Amino acid sequence: MTSLLIQNGAVIPCNGETRTTFTPGYVFLRGDRIAEVGAGQAPERLASEAGEIISAEGQVVIPGLINAHTHLFQTFMRGLADDKPLLRWLEAAIWPGALAMTEEDFYLAAMIGFVENLKCGATSVLSQHYVQTSPRNMDAVAEAARRSGVRARLARGYADRDPYHPKFMETPEQVLRETERLVRVWNHSAGGRVRVEFGPLIPWGCRGDTLQTIARLAKEWDVGVHIHLAETQPEVKMTLDETGARPARWLDELGVLDERWQLVHCVWLDDDEMDRIAAAGSTIVHCAVSNMYLASGTPAVTEWCKRGIPTALATDGPGSNNSQDMLEVLKFTACLQKVGTLDATALLPEDVLEMVYGGGAKAMGLDGQIGQLAPGALADITIVNLRKPHVSPVFSPQSALVYNANGNDVDTVIVNGEVSVRGGQMMNIDEAGLIAECQKAAEKMWSRAGIRK
Ligand SMILES: [Zn+2]
Repeated sequence: MTSLLIQNGAVIPCNGETRTTFTPGYVFLRGDRIAEVGAGQAPERLASEAGEIISAEGQVVIPGLINAHTHLFQTFMRGLADDKPLLRWLEAAIWPGALAMTEEDFYLAAMIGFVENLKCGATSVLSQHYVQTSPRNMDAVAEAARRSGVRARLARGYADRDPYHPKFMETPEQVLRETERLVRVWNHSAGGRVRVEFGPLIPWGCRGDTLQTIARLAKEWDVGVHIHLAETQPEVKMTLDETGARPARWLDELGVLDERWQLVHCVWLDDDEMDRIAAAGSTIVHCAVSNMYLASGTPAVTEWCKRGIPTALATDGPGSNNSQDMLEVLKFTACLQKVGTLDATALLPEDVLEMVYGGGAKAMGLDGQIGQLAPGALADITIVNLRKPHVSPVFSPQSALVYNANGNDVDTVIVNGEVSVRGGQMMNIDEAGLIAECQKAAEKMWSRAGIRK
């Protein structure tokens, strides 16, 4: 069994709270699990047992970041539809681009997206893939996840009713049959790193009876359900006009919401909806940068916190961010709430870390297993270099991480006990070759889709 000792760095264990820092501290890994964590110098017995020792001097050792919502095929759409609101952004680039992508494109787009996530310190990524033009598209994304070394949850996205784009529409039978196949093929592969779950896209494109079937099967198959909810005001109005209920209330009245559901965005919830979500135990996934980019609005994150709603953080797809840098997301999450509430203390760095780890672990269905450096937890670890002019001098590592550091400062990334990134470089993946291949494939896709500057 491999064993690895990380020592001499500042360690933020995030074990139950996010204020504690061991300066210095140590973390010892055995196989795919964390075996010991402590303050001070590592005991001699660990140093002599370790197969490898990493010195994290001048660096901070944190649990791997958890990116709880993205759509990685959109790496090929970066910058194609800047400066538009959600529904026009979908029509201008995302839908036509997605229809022109091949299975190989989906593999490459996901691969460069997983690589970017890893290099920016995210060890866990939840990607919703909703372009099922070939039944093998999802397998291509899952294969990229397996190959990249990341821990992935892949929500199989679908729409099964108007007014969603007709070319993306599937029948409920197709959705259930294909999700069942993917769960069977992938959920016990890659050492448990890659798992598929349900991904109904949006209330206004999904039938109520299918959602009820999915809610039942999710329990049976032990998987999650990932859905966009109340991202923009026009969408809330669509559901309200059609059903007489706002979207979270509609889902709750269908009887589907529970702790398996991950509700993405929730920018426009009323008090009744927040109470219902809190009672159901569902997790909200907050995407601050995307909400700003698409001018969707400022969600009431502090109100969710008051109600004890688990809140995970995410980049959203590369088409509406346009990066996958979770350290940047941490800063924007705190800043957006400050400006939204006109209260500089609305969210502190420690609060934001609690969300990305506590809420993120729940979203991934791995509560207590990831998002903390504790004995028995999975060995998912990120080491960030704080000895940089834009970070130093460091007074508080939590503040430095949230307000100063960015993805380029990530030095080492470990997933399941395996080192994926070392010295800021991917191990076992030819990055330059991948970037060149993606550029070529994306240019062909843009021309097939008729997308021009
Ligand atoms: Zn999204």
